[in-house]
Order: sequence, then structure tokens, then C-alpha cells
Amino acid sequence: LGGSISRALQQMSNATIIDEKVLNECLNEITRALLQSDVQFKLVRDMQTNIKKIVNLDDLAAGHNKRKIIQQAVFNELCKMLDPGKPSFIPKKGKTSVVMFVGLQGSGKTTTCTKYAYHYQKKGWKPALVCADTFRAGAFDQLKQNATKAKIPFYGSYMESDPVKIAEEGVERFKKENCDLIIVDTSGRHKQEAALFEEMRQVSEATKPDLVIFVMDSSIGQAAFDQAQAFKQSVAVGAVIVTKMDGHAKGGGALSAVAATKSPVIFIGTGEHMDEFEVFDVKPFVSRLLGMGDWSGFMDKIHEVVPMDQQPELLQKLSEGNFTLRIMYEQFQNILKMGPISQVFSMLPGFSSELMPKGREKESQAKIKRYMTMMDSMTEEELDSSNPKMMNESRMMRIARGSGRHVREVMEMMEEYKRLAKIWSKMKGLKIPKKGDMSAL
Ligand code: GDP
Ligand code: MG
Repeated sequence: LGGSISRALQQMSNATIIDEKVLNECLNEITRALLQSDVQFKLVRDMQTNIKKIVNLDDLAAGHNKRKIIQQAVFNELCKMLDPGKPSFIPKKGKTSVVMFVGLQGSGKTTTCTKYAYHYQKKGWKPALVCADTFRAGAFDQLKQNATKAKIPFYGSYMESDPVKIAEEGVERFKKENCDLIIVDTSGRHKQEAALFEEMRQVSEATKPDLVIFVMDSSIGQAAFDQAQAFKQSVAVGAVIVTKMDGHAKGGGALSAVAATKSPVIFIGTGEHMDEFEVFDVKPFVSRLLGMGDWSGFMDKIHEVVPMDQQPELLQKLSEGNFTLRIMYEQFQNILKMGPISQVFSMLPGFSSELMPKGREKESQAKIKRYMTMMDSMTEEELDSSNPKMMNESRMMRIARGSGRHVREVMEMMEEYKRLAKIWSKMKGLKIPKKGDMSAL
């Protein structure tokens, strides 16, 4: 017993060992966050092993921001794990490419096919959709509806039951029509699993896709690896799209899908609508996995830029997740008054690109002023509500009249509000470190 106590004391006095303890504590904490985010256990373990090799204990002993050093190392390691080392096939405008979508039923294939087509259509491409799902009743109707809404040509059949035949015919037809992006939607279920994979193999053989995209629901959790691998074994998966990132799931399964398919994530789905679709960006994705929200550098900036006396209130509101029009008003005031706060918000996705596009600050300011004029005509109740539904037509008409603006502009402002509220709500429950907390360890 005496020996073990003296050994413990010896350890206490040995700085390096204490720092190893810090490292382990930190890693354990991060591991918990990652497992909660559905990152596969094996991948977490590999990451831990690598971090221990990378992080220099002497640096930890000397530096103050131990947690930051470790977190940064983990961050970089996760970014690396999401990079399979080779880019996916990139379709070329004006040249025909066939892209086949695969994934289990409900993963979001049909929705994502349209989003993908729409994304390119907006850039002037000529996409087309082919429905090769003959298993699910109503599959063709769903695709047809989506395609019609987006004015994208589509092909499918109510009568034909052979998905291979439909896929082949559809691709042929759209090649003749000089479409440059022919997208093949497939089935995600079968009476037997083996039959599904065989069908995917046959559809792929018949349509010779330039790219096969594996669509994955962000909430499938630990099942992601096996699922992705099963598809990879039957068709040449070359890219991954993660859907439903607007929900609670953090999408850690994406790491598994990348590992299993050796393909990059190219887009994420962030809602049911056609335009709720984003090009995959690794940094915010990893921040979210680690439970850091999308705002790794955000807190630092807040401390730097927001006036001291306003910090606690703003942070409190952030963590509550209720975004009212009044908060929007106050933040607009800050933007106009102080300028630099726009830097803070430019770090938030959404605020940056749309509200304050680079090089167009003057116009953005004018827009913000216009919004504020309209908000000046709102009642207290309206300003403090976080329910956009209360803003009915008669209220919007009244605000338009009161501020001398067009009701269309009020509607536009409400759209902006809803967009910002959505971003804001992601911060709900965010643990807010007080200044200095990050280096407390
Ligand atoms: P499929 O069976 O793979 O073709 O999946 P669907 O495209 O039919 O999608 C299944 C359900 O998920 C539908 O209700 C979609 O509206 C929904 N969905 C798809 N992508 C997203 C997304 O990114 N976010 C949300 N919230 N729902 C989505
Ligand atoms: Mg479908």
C-alpha cells in the first residue's frame, strides 16, 4: 500500500504524467461526444491512437491552452478522416454524365436526386431525372411531382416493372435530348436484401454511370459502415451525400461511409425543400460532430467584439435558442453601429453569404436599415414572439402601411428572419464557455 501511495505522489510531481492525465481526460470527453454523434467506435479508437502519437506532451506541459491544443489535433484528425485522398468524379457542363443514386429506402434518395438536379439547373445545366424504383408504390409519382415543381424533365413508368429496362430507356432518351446530367433514382428496398444489391448491380451495368452516389440518413448511427460497405460491394460508389442534417443527428456515420466507400462526402441535405442542400464543407461538419456547434472561432470573436456589458445577455439568448424579431433588430443595430460585429456574424453560416455578401456591404446596410424601418412598425408582442406564424397577412399589411414599404418587402424580411432563426436554433443548448474557461485546464 505504502508503495502505491508514494508512486501516486511521484506521479503528481511529474508534470509530464499529469499532462498525460489531462490528455486522457480530454480525449475521453471528446470520445463521448463523438460516440454520441454516431461516429463508429473503431474510428474513434483509431483517432485516439493517432492523437496520442501526434500531441506532444512537452507542448502540453509548457502551454496553457492544453484543451485547445488537444481539440485542435482532434479536429484536424477528423478532417483528415473525412478526406479519402481522392476527389470524386466531377461532371462537366455540356458533356453527358450519368449519375446513379443508391441507398436504403427512406434515406432521402428521391428528394436528394431532385435537389442535386436543381442545384445544377440553377447553374445553367440541363439535368434530367429517371425513376428506376419500381418497388415502392408511388415512387414514380413522387419523383414526377418533384421534377415538375423544379421544371426538370423526367422519365418513368407506371406499367413497366423492370427497373433495369426503365433505367436504360430513360438514360438513352435523355442522351438523345442532350441532357448533360442524367440522374437515375433507384429503389431502396426489396423482399430480400440480396435482391436489392443484385438489382443495383444490374441497373449500374445497364446505365454505366460516371458516378454512383450513396445517400445516407444522418441518423442511421452505427449502422452506417455496414450499409455503405454493402452498397460499395455491389456498385462502384464514388461519393456520399448525408441527408437530414437539419435534425438532431450530428451525422458521425459519414465518417464510416467515407471509410467504407473510400469516397468523399459531396453534399448535405438540410431540409425537405429543394433548395435545402449545401455543398459539403468539412470544418463546420466536424465542429458539429465535436459538439462545438458551427462556431469554433465564434466564441472568441464574441468576446473580442461584442461590448462587455452586452456579452452575458447575448450569450444567454444564444443558448436559449429563441430567436425573436427583437433580437434580430438588436443585432442589426449592432451591425450598423459597430461594424465589426458583422465579422462575428460573418462566421455563422447564413449570416455571411446572404445577408452580408462580401463586396456588397453598402447594399447590405441599406437592406438592414430597410428591415429595421419595417420592424419599427411592429408591436411589442410581434417583436418578442419567436413564432413566425403569428405574422399573418393582416399584420404584414399593417406593418407595410406603417413603414411605407411594400408588403412584399415585409414578407422578404420575414423570410430572412426565418432563415436566421433556423441558424440560431442550432445553438440551442450550446454550452457557453466563459472567457478563460477554455484554458482553465
Ligand atoms: P428514399 O426512400 O430514399 O427515396 O427517400 P425519400 O426521398 O422519399 O425521403 C424520405 C423522407 O425523408 C421524405 O419524407 C423526405 O421529405 C425526407 N427527407 C429527405 N431529405 C431530407 C432532409 O435533408 N431533411 C429532412 N428534414 N427531411 C428529408
Ligand atoms: Mg425513393
